[in-house]
Amino acid sequence: MSITNEMEIIFDSRSENEGFARVAVAAFMTQLNPTIEEVADVKTAVSEAVTNSIIHGYEDIIGKISIRTRILEKELIVEIKDQGKGIEDIKQAMEPMYTSKPEQERSGMGFAFMEAFMDDIQVYSQSGYGTKVVMKKTIGKGRELWTTQSL
Ligand code: ATP
Ligand code: MG
Repeated sequence: MSITNEMEIIFDSRSENEGFARVAVAAFMTQLNPTIEEVADVKTAVSEAVTNSIIHGYEDIIGKISIRTRILEKELIVEIKDQGKGIEDIKQAMEPMYTSKPEQERSGMGFAFMEAFMDDIQVYSQSGYGTKVVMKKTIGKGRELWTTQSL
């Protein structure tokens, strides 16, 4: 199996760009003929990861966020990276309802949503250097037969 298509975008960590990032990945994945639900799942996951980079990674400063999206056969791989402050304890950060900003009425459910809506999520981070979230989702699961028959 090899990469069949790839795109990368880099943008400022401004909250106005969260919607742009979500739609850019959604537009790129349409070549996999996703259902509306699959697109909605990916948009939610991208939105959570980008919001985290803006709010937690860079906090009050504006930095760069990059999204690299690849298609490997039927699998969509989305990498969201910032050079922000990083995560000290990744395991704790990924626990449902853990938030380092309870005063901002954060519910600590971002990573839980990413895990629920994608097939796989890996988080790489180093304190002071930044964070990379890699998420994967196979598109068209359970629809293979239907596709073959309709050809
Ligand atoms: P919610 O997403 O529900 O608004 P939240 O952002 O606090 O709340 P998660 O998205 O699950 O919850 O993230 C958990 C914690 O992981 C955050 O509170 C933050 O401490 C840390 N974190 C997540 N992403 C990053 C990042 N890109 N850089 C630094 N810290 C991060
Ligand atoms: Mg979050």
